[in-house]
Amino acid sequence: MKRAGRRGTTAGDPGWSNCVFCGTAVGKSARSREHIIPMWLLRATGDPHRKIKIESDPITGNDVVRPASTFHFTACEPCNQKYGKTLEKHAKKAIESLSAGKSLAVSQCYWLLDWLDKVRVGLWLGYNMLHKEEFAPKFRIDQRIGIKDRIAIISVDPNDATKGFGFSSLDNQIFRTSQAGMFFKINNIRILSLSFDGLIFRFAGMPFPKEMLALSDDPDRQIAMMGRTDYQIKQDWGEFQIPGATVIAQTSFWLGNCGDDESLAMWINQKTIPRFKRIPKLRKAADLNQFVQTQLISNATGEFRYHRNGRQRLRFSQAKDNSDWAFVRTLYVLFWRHVLALNPKEQIDADGRRHSTILLAMLWIEKSVQMALRFRELGISDEKSFGPVVEELQKVYRAWEELRANTLGEWAQDASANPVAAAQADQGAVTFR
Ligand SMILES: [Zn+2]
Repeated sequence: MKRAGRRGTTAGDPGWSNCVFCGTAVGKSARSREHIIPMWLLRATGDPHRKIKIESDPITGNDVVRPASTFHFTACEPCNQKYGKTLEKHAKKAIESLSAGKSLAVSQCYWLLDWLDKVRVGLWLGYNMLHKEEFAPKFRIDQRIGIKDRIAIISVDPNDATKGFGFSSLDNQIFRTSQAGMFFKINNIRILSLSFDGLIFRFAGMPFPKEMLALSDDPDRQIAMMGRTDYQIKQDWGEFQIPGATVIAQTSFWLGNCGDDESLAMWINQKTIPRFKRIPKLRKAADLNQFVQTQLISNATGEFRYHRNGRQRLRFSQAKDNSDWAFVRTLYVLFWRHVLALNPKEQIDADGRRHSTILLAMLWIEKSVQMALRFRELGISDEKSFGPVVEELQKVYRAWEELRANTLGEWAQDASANPVAAAQADQGAVTFR
């Protein structure tokens, strides 16, 4: 029997399923199970078969509770090796070291950042699959690991003996539209994991996006209006700096943005070359479709700086206010100040003309109002944050009114286009003033 419409299966063949990492259809015999919350983590934090709250049902609002070990998806064999076994092996070691209060080598920090990308995007994909939502293949995990700026703010409490894990802040529009960040607690470790295009360029002393604009002919694509930089790594990372906690971060940019000498020089020059892990060779046009990653940035040794030596050991410390509340609050402030600011508010057409659209404005406001409400729930009274929301709201209403006025204006000029006016004209000279 055909089971059309079932997500994750190839139509007509219930024996096939799609790999959560790359989207390839996988036959039953070649299939392996990929736990988004891996078994090693479930074991390290308690009974792996314990029942956990997977999510809140989006319709009823009831808790969806099931054994933690059943929260898994299909993976193909090559991906299971690459994103499953190898990555999980390194992540497990890194988390065990952190939990025991030990240092991490810089090279381990890259694995940890990759793994956090995987968990964040995996949870996002998982929830979409649970809700049977459609998503484009570009959102697969293999399109999302290590290609955007990423940062982890980590705090380890050596005296905390609690066992368990939890993640939060996934039930908001910023996470749903971009998987931009989450709070993750694993035993005695607290982590804020964030990733977004251009999120930390400015702090890393790289060219940075001043403003993002959506393209008129393809609103899913965006361009950034870039700001000039002095190429100095900053010491004040603002909200990214939870006092006492340790930051590890990495920026990444798309080589495709360096199509001419001038833009290439903006990214790759005397000042930046020592910061890169590896600069891909450019021989043919296709080589432009690669990402260049910088070396690890951290404040583990005091100042924020690039760490070139993969074997250097970094110590992780404890946040002064080491509470879940403080971390979640910081995440929402970061969403508000740094992620939302990189969401486009206007479109730009091929001639460089900008215009606002109701849809973009509405999306922005929806996210802003939600953040403002979360602030209130969390007891943050940040009155000045409401200012921009109200301003945007007024702008959208103005645009809406203009749109309506223009449409009505056209009707008034051409009676034939207005069925009411046309009907009135047929019956003689009736005017309304
Ligand atoms: Zn795969």
